Amino acid sequence: MTDDSGHRTGTVNGAGSGRNGERDNLILNKLKSGKLKLYELEKELEPMDAIRVRREYIEQETGTKTENIGIFSINIERVVKRNCENMIGTVQVPLGVAGPIAIKGGYAQGNFWLPLATTEGALVASVNRGCSAITKAGGADVRVLHDGMTRAPVFAADSVVHAAEVCNWVATHQDELRLAAESTTSHGKLINVVTFVAGTSVFVRLEFDTKDAMGMNMVTIASAKVADLVAQETGARLIALSGNMCTDKKPAAINAIMGRGRSTVAGVALSHELIAQVFKTDAKTIHEVNYRKNLVGSARAGAMGFNAHAANVVAAMFIACGQDAAHAIDGSTCITTVDLTDTGIYVAVTLPSLPVGTVGGGTGVDTQQECLRILGVAGGGEPPGTNARKLAEIIASGVLAGELSLLGALASQHLARAHQKLGRG
Ligand code: NAP
Repeated sequence: MTDDSGHRTGTVNGAGSGRNGERDNLILNKLKSGKLKLYELEKELEPMDAIRVRREYIEQETGTKTENIGIFSINIERVVKRNCENMIGTVQVPLGVAGPIAIKGGYAQGNFWLPLATTEGALVASVNRGCSAITKAGGADVRVLHDGMTRAPVFAADSVVHAAEVCNWVATHQDELRLAAESTTSHGKLINVVTFVAGTSVFVRLEFDTKDAMGMNMVTIASAKVADLVAQETGARLIALSGNMCTDKKPAAINAIMGRGRSTVAGVALSHELIAQVFKTDAKTIHEVNYRKNLVGSARAGAMGFNAHAANVVAAMFIACGQDAAHAIDGSTCITTVDLTDTGIYVAVTLPSLPVGTVGGGTGVDTQQECLRILGVAGGGEPPGTNARKLAEIIASGVLAGELSLLGALASQHLARAHQKLGRG
C-alpha cells in the first residue's frame, strides 16, 4: 500500500492489518488498565496488528505522532519472533554504496559495491575515494588469518589448588568437552579450549568454528553443555555462562591479542603517482600522519584501536548487512599500518576481532538480506563458512578504503573542507 507521496506503509503485509476500531480500543483499554502487558499483544493479535496497536498505545502515552516509524516493507513474521520484542515499527537509516572496490581475497575475489548504512555526511564519499584508489592500485590483498567465536563461562573453585585442578581436568578431557559441545549443533565445531585463573575464579574460554553463523547463540548453547560437564566432573560451581573473558561487546585486549570472530587483514600497495593523483599528497606525509596519529596518538591516549575511523565502516556495513550492531565495538579494534616502500607505501588494516555471519541473527531481515545479496554472500556458503569469511574480507577491504581516504585527507589538510561541503547541507 502507498500513500499520496508514494510511501509504502506498515500495512503492506495485508491481511488483518487494517484498523479495527472497536477491537483496538478494547485492547488499548486493557493495556492502560494493566490487564494486558505490552509484550503480550501478539497473543491477542496478528503480528502486524500487534505492532500497530502497540505504536498507538505509545503515541497516546507519550503524546507523540509516529507517522514514519510505522512505514516499512520488511516481513515481520520472522522478525517479531527472532529479532525484536515489543516491536512498534522500524527506523530507516540512509543506505549508500561505495565502490566498486577490487578485492583479491582468499574468499572474496572480484569487484564489489559496499552497502553503507549511515547518517554521517561525507562518510560514503570518503570510502568511495578509498575504493577508487584501491581499485586503481590493482585491488586489496585480504586474508582471514584465524576464525573462532568464543564464550567463556566462569566457575568458582574452593581454593587456588582446586582452581588449578579444574584447569588440569579441562586440559585432559578435551574430547569429552568437544562431544558435549557439538551435541547441540550440526554446524559448530569446538576448536580450542583455554583456561584462565584469578584467585578462586576459573574461566574456561571455549572457541568454535561457527561456519557461516556469527555464532553467539550457537556457542552460548554449546557452552552451556560444556559448563554443566565441567561443574559436574570437577565440583567447581558454575557462576555465569559468560564470564566476560569471551569477551563479547566490550573493548578487550584478549580479543585484540588472541582474536575473536574472523581475524582479518587487508593491505594495498600505492605508488607515488597514485598517491599524488588521488590524494594530492605524498607517501612520506601519509606515513607520518599514520605514525603520529594512529600509532603515537593512540598509544598516548591508551586507545584499544590504533586506527583513524575503522568503526565508521564497520558500523555502517554491520547495520546494512544485518550484523549485530553492538559488535562494532569488537570489530573496530583495528591497527592501521603504513610501510614506506621503494615505489610508494603499503597500507594495511589488521582486524583481529570481526564477528560476522551470513546466516542467523539479523541477516534474514529483507532489507539486510538484499545488502548481503549485493555482496553475493547471503545465506550459507558452499562449503559452509566460506560466505561469512568472504563477508569479513569485504568489510576489511572497506575499512582499508576508509583508512586510506581519511589518512589522505588529513595528509593533504582536506578533512575540514570535505566535511563542510558534504556534511553540512
Ligand atoms: P542464530 O540465529 O542462532 O542461527 C545460527 C544457526 O543457523 C546455527 O546454530 C546453525 O544451526 C544454523 N545454520 C544453518 N546454516 C548454517 C551455516 N551454513 N553455517 C552456520 N550455521 C548454520 O545465529 P548465531 O550466529 O548463533 O547468533 C547470532 C545472534 O546472536 C544475533 O542475533 C546476535 O544478536 C545474538 N547474540 C546472542 C548472544 C548470546 O549470548 N546468546 C550474544 C550476542 C549476540 P545448528 O547449530 O543447528 O547447526
